[in-house]
Amino acid sequence: MMQESAIRVEGLRVRYPGAAADAVAGIAFTVAPGEVFGLLGPNGAGKSTTQRVLTGQHRRYAGTAEVLGTPVARWGRNLYERIGVGFELPAYLPKLTARENLAAFAALYHRPTDRPEQVLAAVGLADAADQRAATFSKGMKMRLNLARALLHRPDVLFLDEPTSGLDPVNAADVRAVIRAQADTGRTVFLTTHDMAAVEELCTRVAFMRAGGIVAVDTPRSLRLAYGRPSVMVDYTEAGELRHAEFPTTDDRALLALLATGRVQTVHTREAALADVFIAVAGQAPVGSP
Ligand code: ATP
Repeated sequence: MMQESAIRVEGLRVRYPGAAADAVAGIAFTVAPGEVFGLLGPNGAGKSTTQRVLTGQHRRYAGTAEVLGTPVARWGRNLYERIGVGFELPAYLPKLTARENLAAFAALYHRPTDRPEQVLAAVGLADAADQRAATFSKGMKMRLNLARALLHRPDVLFLDEPTSGLDPVNAADVRAVIRAQADTGRTVFLTTHDMAAVEELCTRVAFMRAGGIVAVDTPRSLRLAYGRPSVMVDYTEAGELRHAEFPTTDDRALLALLATGRVQTVHTREAALADVFIAVAGQAPVGSP
């Protein structure tokens, strides 16, 4: 049997009522099963709108939006048996414990669900299973949110800013949970501003700007195409410590500085995805006039 795509979008267009421009202006991309696909771009680019269409939460759109080979509009409620949705704002019942929350959500599914204890362990909340959700820290709420999205072993996991506002330890833990999900073959569709998450997790990323897609590729190819590796030098001048940065292509200026004997430290800085972000955020969307 031919493997269908996990997500297929073509000519997708959304304009909010009364808006002067499209929030999503005719975009196209395909996500293969098992991919971790990142949707990146500046605030207001149209990422959340795209994700709302794909998760059946925004129904007024033009063009094609398919999940697991079927148009979103044709799925109806069954879509939620097959996808997991973890959005930025935690959704839980504050008076219930973590375990009770998951048991309550599990009851909403027709398909088999994992045991709450199992899912809580997967997101690092085993010790807080009997604590009321209302008492959870932000990091714990994000984990509970993620647990809820995983409960019914969905084929595709949609995550909107899963590490937003988390400290570095919690963010790394959440990335590890997403990694583990991807390793089981689950497709993950992620919107994020967290470049570490992109580097660590994404098989491919699409950069959006002003409703359009400006680039789609692997993080590595994008870094090579747009990144800006450089050599950073600290040196002394007239008794003061100064800093200079040289593109790796400009070795003459660097060598001249090294020859002065006043150089204190030299570091190389690899091309980073943040460079790509800055470069493509200023570009016109593909296909725009
Ligand atoms: P962020 O990174 O800030 O989450 P985003 O890329 O997810 O941004 P969207 O939230 O999809 O961007 O917004 C795209 C455009 O649509 C913006 O111009 C925004 O103001 C507009 N917009 C979003 N939601 C609505 C709404 N419910 N009604 C009207 N306009 C909206």
